[in-house]
Amino acid sequence: EMILAAEKDPAFAKVLQNATLRIPDGIGLVWALARRGIKAKRLPGIELSEAIINHCRENNIPVAFIGASPEVMTALIPALHTKYTGLNIVYSHHGFFKAESPEEQTVLSQCIESKPQVVFLALGFPRQEFWIAENQPKFNSPTIMVGVGGSFDVWSGLKKRAPKIFRDCQAEWLYRISSEPWRIQRVMKTLPQFLVKAILLGHN
Ligand code: UDP
Repeated sequence: EMILAAEKDPAFAKVLQNATLRIPDGIGLVWALARRGIKAKRLPGIELSEAIINHCRENNIPVAFIGASPEVMTALIPALHTKYTGLNIVYSHHGFFKAESPEEQTVLSQCIESKPQVVFLALGFPRQEFWIAENQPKFNSPTIMVGVGGSFDVWSGLKKRAPKIFRDCQAEWLYRISSEPWRIQRVMKTLPQFLVKAILLGHN
C-alpha cells in the first residue's frame, strides 16, 4: 500500500525516503525485495515498537502515545502500565482530531511541552507518516517518532493480534482480512497491482 502510494505521490515518496528507518513489516515487501536480490527478514512493526517500549521502560526514557479511537486510548494507558511497569508516559491523546484543527495544534503543542524522547503515532496511513515528517522538526530536542498503524488497538486489549500459527506462516495479513472483512476492499485495491509490478520489475 505504501509503496504504491509513494509511486503515485512524490510528496509521500519523499517522506518515506527521508525516514531514518524503514522496516519490511509485510511479507509482500520481503518477497519483492528478494526478487531484486535483496535479502530481508520480515519485522512486524508491532514487535519493533514493543522492543522500543521495553528499552524506554528500562532506561526511564519519557514516551508519548498519540492516536487510535478515544475508547482505545482509554484502555491503552492502563494496559501499558500493567505490561510495562514503571513506563514513563508523559503524554497521550486519541487520534480522532481533524487535520489542521485547533485541537490538532493543542495536541501537538501539549506533546512538545511534555518533552517525550519517543512518540508512538497511530493515525493510520498515510496521515501518520505525513504527521511525523511535518511535526518532528518542531520538537525542541531530538525526538524519535514511530508510526505504528493498528498497534494501539492490540496493546489496549480491544483487538487481538493474529495467532502464532498465522504469524509463523507469514499470514498475519490473512488473519487481519478474515477478522476485519472491510480490509478486503483496501487490500484488493493495491495487492494485485503490487504483485504484477513486483513480478515484472522485480528481477535483477
Ligand atoms: N486512526 C486515528 N485517526 C484517524 C484514522 C485512524 O487515530 O483519523 C487510528 C485507528 O483508530 C487505528 C490506527 O489509526 O488505531 C490505524 O490502524 P490501521 O489498522 O488502519 O493501520 P494499519 O496497521 O492497517 O496501517
